[in-house]
Amino acid sequence: MKVSVDHAQCYGSAECAYRVPSVFAFEDGYGVVLPGGAEATDAPEVRERVREAAERCPSQAIRLSAEGE
Ligand code: SF4
Repeated sequence: MKVSVDHAQCYGSAECAYRVPSVFAFEDGYGVVLPGGAEATDAPEVRERVREAAERCPSQAIRLSAEGE
């Protein structure tokens, strides 16, 4: 699954990094996808937590695509 954070929308709550630290980090005031973070979503439990993080992102800044799922 492809994962990205739209920095134009992210307002830096850091919730994504808190919820899924294997995929997201908090850098320079934004949520970012770690190197290898997208690959980590190969694991179904991680994928589910990333979906949850996207749903709960207060600014709807996390983009997911099914490609590679
Ligand atoms: S949860 Fe959303 S608003 Fe908060 S840091 Fe992550 S992408 Fe940004």
